[in-house]
Amino acid sequence: MTRHSFAIAFLCCMAIPVAETAKAQWKTPWSYEGARGPDRWGNLDPDYAACKAGKEQSPIDIRDAVKADLPPIRFEYQSSPLKYLINNGYTVRVNCHDAPGSGSFLIVGDTRYHLTQFHFHHPGEETIDGKTYPMEVHLMHQSSDGKIAGVVVFLEAGDANATVQQIWDHMPMTKGGEEEIPGVEVNPAGLLPGNPGYYVYRGSITAPPCTEGVTWIVLKTPVTVSAGQIEAFAKLYPHDVRPIQPLNGRTVKQSR
Ligand SMILES: [Zn+2]
Repeated sequence: MTRHSFAIAFLCCMAIPVAETAKAQWKTPWSYEGARGPDRWGNLDPDYAACKAGKEQSPIDIRDAVKADLPPIRFEYQSSPLKYLINNGYTVRVNCHDAPGSGSFLIVGDTRYHLTQFHFHHPGEETIDGKTYPMEVHLMHQSSDGKIAGVVVFLEAGDANATVQQIWDHMPMTKGGEEEIPGVEVNPAGLLPGNPGYYVYRGSITAPPCTEGVTWIVLKTPVTVSAGQIEAFAKLYPHDVRPIQPLNGRTVKQSR
């Protein structure tokens, strides 16, 4: 490849919003505290401008949610090989590189979203009436026309979770690239509660570039993980959490 064509390829790929592509990394480093912490994200890179200029940012404190007739949600999740597992320096994430039409899906009303990746936060990012859960899973989905839907599952201490354990058993302990874990099949349905009740609001990716237009579906019922499972993640990532963002007049709805 010539230097010129490399430059074009580089520029082309920088235009893809990083958080929405499963594989991409961030060109400008950021962190959860200090000089590159959340209150500076919007100044670190013009691509991160929404982190300070955006009016519909996440996470939020959910309270006074309005009861509404919301579309039913359905998870068509299935087992697939654990590829790819990544410790990206901010969290532990499972990327789903599925062939078109295959993989796991979230159906909201008439819209079908493909599960693109899921990852963990310690403690939880969203709060309910000010209450913080010990951990939170973000299951990120994208529709064929590019709409993003994130599902939040709160994790609280209790019985161990077998799906979490499968991932923890292979958790890369240092930052690195995607790792394919041969012979391990994971079904993300193991991360879902039985009760489909949910809150919904319009927000953003909770890390740079803080892209807005994300439909956040926050499941009301937590799932349990053991205290040891929480501790194992916290050793790697004690605080991978963005502070609560202002609501700016947004309405949070909840299923009846
Ligand atoms: Zn997240």
